[in-house]
Amino acid sequence: MTIWNLGSINADHTYRVDKLPVAGETLASRSLTIGLGGKGANMSVAAARAAARVCHIGAVGEDGTKWRDRLLEYGVDTRFIAVADEPTAHAIITVDDDGENQIILYSGANGVIPENLIGSALSEANAGDIFVTQNETNGQYEAAKIAKELGLRVMYAAAPFSADAIMALDGLIDILVLNEVEAGQLQDATGKDVSELGIAQVLITKGADGVTVYDNGTRLDVPSVKVDAVDTTGAGDTFTGYFAAGLDRGFGLEQSLNLAVQAAAIMVTRHGTADVIPDLKDVQDAKL
Ligand code: ADP
Repeated sequence: MTIWNLGSINADHTYRVDKLPVAGETLASRSLTIGLGGKGANMSVAAARAAARVCHIGAVGEDGTKWRDRLLEYGVDTRFIAVADEPTAHAIITVDDDGENQIILYSGANGVIPENLIGSALSEANAGDIFVTQNETNGQYEAAKIAKELGLRVMYAAAPFSADAIMALDGLIDILVLNEVEAGQLQDATGKDVSELGIAQVLITKGADGVTVYDNGTRLDVPSVKVDAVDTTGAGDTFTGYFAAGLDRGFGLEQSLNLAVQAAAIMVTRHGTADVIPDLKDVQDAKL
C-alpha cells in the first residue's frame, strides 16, 4: 500500500534572538539554522520513518531542489514534486530566549502545484491506499475528489485551520485530524459537534492530554505518553504521519493511535522539525 501526500515543502529559517523585535526595530540574530519543514514534508518524513511507502505530491522552486532531494534521502518517492516558477516556500522563524516565537510564512511554490501532476500521481494509486493532505497547498479539493473516486481513504489534517477549507471538502473526508483549538473553531463555525459532521473518524489531538477520537460517533480516548517536552514543533505532523503509516500497515484504530502517540511523544523531547522525527527503531527502543 502507498500513502499519497499532497503537501507543503518549506525551507524553515530559524533565527535565535535575545528578544523578539518590535515594529521598526532592526535586530541581530545569534544564529541561523535552515532545515526542511512544512506540514506536508513533515508528514511524509514521519510516515517514511514509520516504514511506510510514501509518495509526496508537491512543488519546490528552482532554489529548493535540495529539499526534494532531502525527502528522497528519507525514502520518500519524489517523482511527483514539480520544480515550479515560484520560489520555494519558506518560513522565517524567530525564537527568543523564553522560547517565544514569531513566524512569517511565504507559500511560494506550494500554491502552484500543477493539477495535471496531481492527476498523474494519483493515476498510480490503488483502492485502499491512503491520501493525506493539509491546508498549505493548492489542489486539495481536486486531489481529494480523485482520491475518493479511486477508493482511497482520505485523511485531512486541518491546519492551518480554515473552517471553509474543511467545508469545501464536504463528503470527501474519511479521517479528519485537528487539535483541540481547531476542533473548537470548527464547532463554532458549523454550529455542530465535530462528531456530527458525517466524517467517519475525527481525531482531536490535545497535546499532553492525549487524543479524543470519534469513530463513527463512538468516543475513544487515548492518553499521551508522559515525557519532558522541550519543543512541540512538528508533534502534530509526526502524529498524523505515524497514524497514517499504522493504518497503511493494516493496524486497527487503537494500535495506529498508540504508535502515533509514542512517536509524537519522542518528537516533543527533541528540538527541530523534519530532520529529527523519530524512526520506528527509536519508537521501539523507547519502550513507552
Ligand atoms: P499540534 O502540534 O498540531 O497543535 P498537539 O499539540 O495536540 O498538536 O500534539 C499532537 C500530539 O503530539 C498529541 O496528540 C500528543 O500525542 C503529542 N504531544 C504533544 N505535546 C505533548 C506532550 N507535552 N507530551 C506528550 N505528548 C505530546
